[in-house]
Amino acid sequence: MSLFGTHTTDDPEGTRRVAQALAATLAAGDLVLLDGDLGTGKTVFVQGLAAGLGMDPGQVTSPTFTLVHEYSGGRLPLQHVDLYRLGATDLDEVGLDPDLAARGVVAVEWAERLLQRALPGAIRVGLRAAADDRREIRIERR
Ligand code: ADP
Ligand code: MG
Repeated sequence: MSLFGTHTTDDPEGTRRVAQALAATLAAGDLVLLDGDLGTGKTVFVQGLAAGLGMDPGQVTSPTFTLVHEYSGGRLPLQHVDLYRLGATDLDEVGLDPDLAARGVVAVEWAERLLQRALPGAIRVGLRAAADDRREIRIERR
């Protein structure tokens, strides 16, 4: 099964497993852009990324009041951004630590709010609720 393409999951654990498989392929400087309606599993997916990087997934919650959460202790540091409460914004304005971004992975929920549409090399993850607990997860790199 290739990582890139569409996956279907039937529970949050399945979505975390897909994200864990992606995490195994990530390298320093990678940017993971997540899109999908509220409740489709973007935060669950980031929990899987954290688990796959060797961190406790239980510490991953949506950054709402602080815009960026930082998780360390894994193979690569992870910065987690949620743009839900923001309007169109620039990735440089959300308070990412640029040094940490270069050394680690950045995951962005509601990435469609980014003004920079062309982020070459970014991994795009699109989530869609197909039924009650069923999610379609499309992963592409561009
Ligand atoms: P988002 O960050 O996209 O708003 P969350 O990850 O916070 O969404 O929440 C997803 C919700 O959907 C959780 O309550 C989770 O338990 C539920 N859920 C049900 N089925 C799935 C699935 N297959 N994958 C991910 N989450 C699922
Ligand atoms: Mg979320």
